[in-house]
Amino acid sequence: MGGWGMMIDEPRIRVGLVERRGPLGFVLRGPFADEQGRVWPAGDYSALAAGAAVQVSAAAGGADLFNIGLRLSPVSEASTFVVRGVVIGISFHWQQEQDQEFAGGLQIRAIAGESLLAINEVPLETYLASVISSEMSSLSNPELLRAHAIISRSWLLAQIAPWRDQLLQPTAPTNLTSEAETNGRRIVRWYDREGHDHFDVCADDHCQRYQGVTRIDLPVVTEAVCDTRGMALVFDGQICDARFSKSCGGMTERFSSAWQDADYPYLSVAFDGLGSLPELHSEDDARRWIRQRPPAYCNTEDREVLQRILPSFDQPTTDFYRWQVRLSQEELHYLLTSRLGIDPGSILRFEPLRRGGSGRLILLRLVGERQSVTIGKELEIRRVLSRTHLYSSAFVVEPGKAVDGIPEDFTLYGAGWGHGVGLCQIGAAVMAARGFSFRQILAHYYRGAGIIDLYRTSLRLSSSGDAT
Ligand SMILES: [Zn+2]
Ligand SMILES: [Zn+2]
Repeated sequence: MGGWGMMIDEPRIRVGLVERRGPLGFVLRGPFADEQGRVWPAGDYSALAAGAAVQVSAAAGGADLFNIGLRLSPVSEASTFVVRGVVIGISFHWQQEQDQEFAGGLQIRAIAGESLLAINEVPLETYLASVISSEMSSLSNPELLRAHAIISRSWLLAQIAPWRDQLLQPTAPTNLTSEAETNGRRIVRWYDREGHDHFDVCADDHCQRYQGVTRIDLPVVTEAVCDTRGMALVFDGQICDARFSKSCGGMTERFSSAWQDADYPYLSVAFDGLGSLPELHSEDDARRWIRQRPPAYCNTEDREVLQRILPSFDQPTTDFYRWQVRLSQEELHYLLTSRLGIDPGSILRFEPLRRGGSGRLILLRLVGERQSVTIGKELEIRRVLSRTHLYSSAFVVEPGKAVDGIPEDFTLYGAGWGHGVGLCQIGAAVMAARGFSFRQILAHYYRGAGIIDLYRTSLRLSSSGDAT
């Protein structure tokens, strides 16, 4: 595992903005230059796919053909461009088209000779300011925003080549793997971000929501990105795959409980508070843990803290720390048939087969009158047992009144919101409100990781990162 001996320049991220068959309209706001050094004046343009080439015509007149694609770079920093009709919220109910403005370069490529792809080549730090503005409320504590800037930067670099390939251990791949095993009614799946072919990340929720410069209107977010410029989490000389979720429920979870069977020492099971770890070894331990409300950073009902961390917060309850859901036999029947196409008859019991260290179920068997079905991992369990996804898979089940040995319903008592791996956003918000610094927050959630400055250090890391 070698280090680097050279300084690193700020990487440019290639963000896929839109792919479409029809004409693609864009507006240059200020001069740009193409790869032949020709200057393109400000104005309206329209691109069409012409076989393997891209044909671009200017509203002012004239058209040009570009083999494979066109690549425009801003002549001055003040030059931005607008892409018409960018689709946002793909396949969500708020899906819509918007004109969006971007800083950095514009690439338009012909894909498979029939559609056009617009790519924004943007400096990493500019990209982060936009992404964090979309995800976080400007009311958030500055220490929390700094922590978030560092984990977004680390996560991003850990996903994309060449950073991923140079820096991550080959035994711990980070891209999509999915194993669907339906034989014997055993369904074990996990969902991770799939890679993209022509760019590093897309602009939608699939990767991180990115809405260009129109979103960078929050000075406090821009400051948080500037203050932490180039800072990334490292462990053992490699950039951390810095995951995060809404609420761990009092205990953070391992990577392998949510995704493939790889583990990172810095994504470990840890108590989200001061003091020691109440280890969960048995089903009784898990039941005791989940049915209590132990003190932890994310054990808060402070609406102000919650609203700051969840800007588009519209949940009827603020109780993500401990929650309950009742499932009738009718609802279970609906869910199993619609989600899995399986009808096991009335459900007799839930059998927890494997839990992670936070109490999250990794494998769960539903024993029905006719057959049983085993599901995993955590997101698949949450997807199958709810029309909208259960808050988490850290739950224990109490059967309701039985008629002829068949419970009428089941009550799920649960803890936390999300996979629980890495930083707990609600816990981190509470830590920041209590005066912890971003370094203390990151050291708490990414145990043993250090922080490096990518742009100032000639990287020669040995067995562990620097102290936080
Ligand atoms: Zn994506
Ligand atoms: Zn937590």
